Amino acid sequence: MTVISRTEVVYAMSRDNAPVATVASGSEVTFQTCDCFSDQIASADAAFTELDWQRINPATGPVYVEGAKAGDVLRVDIKRIALTHPQAVMVTVPQLGVVGDELEKPQITIVPIENNEALLPGGVRVPLNPMIGVIGVAPAGEPISCGTPDSHGGNMDCKVIAEGATLYLPVNVDGALFALGDLHAAMGDGEVSVCGLEIPGEVTVTLSVVKNRPLPTPMLENADALYTLGSAKTLDEAASLATRNMAHFVADNAGMTLDQAITLLSIAGDLQICQVVDPLKTCRYALPKAVAAQLNLRIEG
Ligand SMILES: [Zn+2]
Repeated sequence: MTVISRTEVVYAMSRDNAPVATVASGSEVTFQTCDCFSDQIASADAAFTELDWQRINPATGPVYVEGAKAGDVLRVDIKRIALTHPQAVMVTVPQLGVVGDELEKPQITIVPIENNEALLPGGVRVPLNPMIGVIGVAPAGEPISCGTPDSHGGNMDCKVIAEGATLYLPVNVDGALFALGDLHAAMGDGEVSVCGLEIPGEVTVTLSVVKNRPLPTPMLENADALYTLGSAKTLDEAASLATRNMAHFVADNAGMTLDQAITLLSIAGDLQICQVVDPLKTCRYALPKAVAAQLNLRIEG
């Protein structure tokens, strides 16, 4: 099995990044990941002003997947997310996040992890929902910072990108150049403070090339639903993009008119927020599996 060390990181997804490994389609790969601060914060007393802000949101990789060409789709089966630290890091910063105007000074919080729960300040225990914040392939054009999501994936901060889910990413360049990082031990929809429970870990995925099934934006499947993911400058545009892509996906693959598909989406599924704090915002549209099954809808066709 291929293991990619957490020392092999990129801070932008780019067609110019040299691959750190080459694997055949269908291979299992384990990515060791740093937290989104490149593991620079070890205690609540860490000097916030001395953080190296050039080293934020590292993604481990990229991995070249043999046979992947522009127009293909990379199927990423998320087999296992292992958190390798007994504590996570969380920050709140004035002017960052949805209500950053309420904050007076930067605050670092170290959050112990115990028995699959996070011990939050105030004595609140919260169940973990380990998820991958940054996951994507190289974009077709200019490099895109790992802090930004878009149609190549990137910092989508979507809590459904978790163990057991399958993510489908449109391929833009030969080999796809896949990378991931920025694990969160837990995060709520919106990521309202700009931060999840940031933690290092190890993620094992299977990477497979899917031919003849072009997708305009990432899609996702788990036990509950099929999802389209849309990232855009505003939340309104991201909502529109995710919904539009699901409407066309349903119309094209279930033999429905767009009117019928949009009627279905208004009644039987949910438009949900992934995050509202990154340079582009991300929404997802969730179509329940029970509905998809009636229409024989499958992402792989
Ligand atoms: Zn993060």
